[in-house]
Order: sequence, then structure tokens, then C-alpha cells
Amino acid sequence: MTTTPLHLFNSLTRKLEEFQPVHPGEARVYTCGPTVYNYPHIGNMRAYVFADVLGRTLSFKGYDLTHVINITDVGHLTDDADAGEDKMEKMAAERAQSIWDIARHYTEAYWADVKALNIRQPARWTIATEFVPAMIEFAKGIADRHCYELDSGLYFDVSTVADYGRLARAHTDEGEGRIETVEGKRNAADFAIWRKTPPGETRQMEWDSPWGRGAPGWHLECSVMSGEVLGFPFDIHTGGIDHREIHHPNEIAQNQAHCCTNGLDTAENSGARIWMHNNFLVERSGKMSKSSGEFLRLQLLIDKGYHPLAYRMLCLQAHYRSELEFSWEGLGAALTRLKRLVMGVEKLREREEKGQDGTFDVAKYIRAFDEAISQDINTSEALTVLELVIGVSAIPPVQALDAVEKIDAVLGLELSSLARADLRIRPKAATITEAEIEATFAARKEARAAKDFSTSDRLRDELAAKGVEVMDGDPLGWDWRLGE
Ligand code: AMP
Ligand code: ZN
Repeated sequence: MTTTPLHLFNSLTRKLEEFQPVHPGEARVYTCGPTVYNYPHIGNMRAYVFADVLGRTLSFKGYDLTHVINITDVGHLTDDADAGEDKMEKMAAERAQSIWDIARHYTEAYWADVKALNIRQPARWTIATEFVPAMIEFAKGIADRHCYELDSGLYFDVSTVADYGRLARAHTDEGEGRIETVEGKRNAADFAIWRKTPPGETRQMEWDSPWGRGAPGWHLECSVMSGEVLGFPFDIHTGGIDHREIHHPNEIAQNQAHCCTNGLDTAENSGARIWMHNNFLVERSGKMSKSSGEFLRLQLLIDKGYHPLAYRMLCLQAHYRSELEFSWEGLGAALTRLKRLVMGVEKLREREEKGQDGTFDVAKYIRAFDEAISQDINTSEALTVLELVIGVSAIPPVQALDAVEKIDAVLGLELSSLARADLRIRPKAATITEAEIEATFAARKEARAAKDFSTSDRLRDELAAKGVEVMDGDPLGWDWRLGE
């Protein structure tokens, strides 16, 4: 265990709280996973980068971590507040494909992004459809006291639990998306925990239940998967900030109903002690929307020549509770920063090989890092400490490399294995080879050195015509990326 207490911002209390594990020495974390009806956009991936850094921090602090991330392959409607169609069924109908094939394809695509972003594998990926019998049991246990049946399904009556919506700071009848969409609901915020298949229809995914053939509600899924695998109460539940408004208040309401033996209003029976939410990655022109043609997927970044870890770096530069605006310039700057780190580590290795040594109190940097990360996962400050460790030449290379390894175990930038060459990705649309680019760059450098600016400009234009934008501002000299 490190010495600095870990403080985390709890959305339930809207305060920083010291992390006190439910089970001594352990940390149990549940992260709301993707709905696998389409590729994740990079905003979605910000949620998993955050959860990963949180998990790595808990490991760094000595806790035995059990992290669970779910895969939602049934039940998530196009509108979080119980309206619209099932996202999976809709995509399957549009594509005339089996839902199971769609789920498999997009789950694998999501896992590829997880790997590319160096997000650690959780202890378990829970797949929603594998938990349907447990969901039916959970619903049976709370149905009598907390639910009522309508033609369309079994609904949770939010007035039966104390303090509904305190996570969202919303009153029962207010809040976004709470327009009464289902006739017969007792409260606008009531939500379906089981949705019956309408008469005359069949769904690709449906199960028998005491409330008719149908499918579970999305909120029910997370209550059941988290409770079954981690046990109530567990330590931390994470998700994007949008979940603070509807999905998580509804999970909490179900958990309160399920754990009723402790009364209805203690933090313990909210299911998790701490609820954490990452803010959004925003992009002003709407390219994040999955309905726009070329939306911002990680693969698009790679196709344009950006190493995926540049995106991880972009996320780490901001605090997880701040909104982060995406721009290609910002991503380029993050890539440059990552390159500097990688080159710094390469230099340290060279110095280590030369046998440079000395004495230096590197522990103070580890302490500074620990303090930063323990203060609600302050990754941007942690990065600054990392840069000091790499940049302060008085630190003997052996010690510096050791400190880099400890810090990077939390930040996850793969600094011990990445080489500078790995960060050069050829843009998909570039029409010349890397060797040709290098040769043109060298010629252009010579021309500039000789103050022959007309040749230099001509070479630059030639490169631009082939899809390569020269980045003169890059302090590392050699750089190129695909022009817009
Ligand atoms: P979904 O697949 O829609 O359930 O979303 C997966 C995760 O991404 C959830 O935790 C969302 O809250 C989160 N999320 C969605 N959009 C963004 C965004 N633009 N920035 C950060 N997180 C997001
Ligand atoms: Zn969830």
C-alpha cells in the first residue's frame, strides 16, 4: 500500500471521499459497458480509458482488484428513458442479419479498441444475455413490493424507494427524457424492468418470464450483473456522465429494492459505495454521432496516421470530470507529447547501457505521482511528474527507468515497450511510401538549410498532393500526417 490516502469524487454525495474498501485489501469495480449494435466512437472509449486508469490506480495502491465490464447485447432502447426500439433489434432489422452475429461482430470490434488503447482486461466481461435467468429471479424478488404490470411489461414504481434520483439530483417527475411515453405509468420516471413482446410480434431475442415472453430492461441488466459477480455492496460503479441522470438512478432504485434488509436510504444498499462518472468527449461538428457517415472511431484515427495511444494520451491530459473537446490539432499535439516521452525513455536506456550511475532521491517523484493520482485520479498532473522523471538529467537512468515503469503501470502508455518507430503510422490514403516521404523530407531540410525556399515549398506541395501534410511546427522535426 502506498502512503497517500486515495480520494475519489463520489457522484452520490458530490464530494471527494476517501476510498475505504468494503472488503479489506480488495477493490471491486463495475463499469457499464458498451451496447454492441455499432462500433464504439472515441467518446465511448474515453469511459473505458478512465475506468482502466482507475483500476490501475487501485492496483498501484495495493488493492486486489476485481473489475467487471459488461457487454449489453439486449435491452438497451434507442432512448434511455424507456422509449423507442431495442438498439440491437433495430440494427439487425436494418441489416437483415442475426442479432447474435451483430453482437459478436461489434463486441470483437470493441475489444480490438480496448487492446489498441492498452486497456487492461477486466477480471470478467459479463454478457447480458447470459444473465437473463438471474435477471428474472431478481425481478421476481422485487416485483411484489416495487413493481406493477402494464400491457407492455413490468414497471418499477420509483415512489417505492427512498430518495429516488438523488444521484441525478432530480425530482421524481422531472429530468430529461421523462415525458410520459407509456400509458398507465404511475410516475413519469417509472421504467420497464421487463418488456413484453407485443402481441403478433416476435423478437430475435426473447425469453419466457412470469410477465410474458419478452426481454429484460437495460437497467435491470447492470443491477444483476454487478450484484451477481461482485456482491452488494461493492466498491465503485463507473460510467459516462449521461448515466448519472437515468441509468444509474434506476440501477440504484432496483438495488435498494433488492437489498431492502438495510432500510432504503443508506449508501450501502445503493449497490455500490462510490459512483463515478467521466465527462464527455465532445466534437462540435457532430462527427461523434454514430448516425453521421464517417463517425469518429478509433480506426479512423489510425487510418489518418495517429497511433491509438495518442488518443489515450489525449484523455490523460484532461481530468476525467472535465469535458474534453476533440480536435485533430489536439490529437496531433498529444501524439507529439507521447513521442517525446518515448524518445526520452530511449535515451535513458542508452545512458543505462553506458553504465551511467549515481545517487538521487527518486522516491520523491514517486510520492509526487502518488499524490497526484490519489487526488481523484489527476492524470494531467501525473503526466507532468512522469515528464520530470524522464527529463531531469541528474536522476541516474536505472532509477529513472524504474520510476517510469511504476508510473506507466498506472498511465498505461506502454513506455517500456514502445519504440519511436512504432508511433509512425502510414495514413491509409497516403499514396507514397514511407521511404519516399523520408527522402523528400531530407531534401526539403537541405533546401531550407540553404535558404532555397522555392524548392522547399515545391517539395512541400508535392507531398501535399500525395496526401501528406508537412508539420513544420513539430518540434521533433520529422513528422507527417494525412491532409484533410
Ligand atoms: P453506450 O454504448 O451508449 O452504452 O456507451 C458506452 C459508454 O460511453 C457509457 O459509459 C457512456 O456513458 C459513455 N459515453 C457515451 N458518449 C460519450 C462521450 N461523448 N464521451 C465520453 N463518454 C461517453
Ligand atoms: Zn449499466
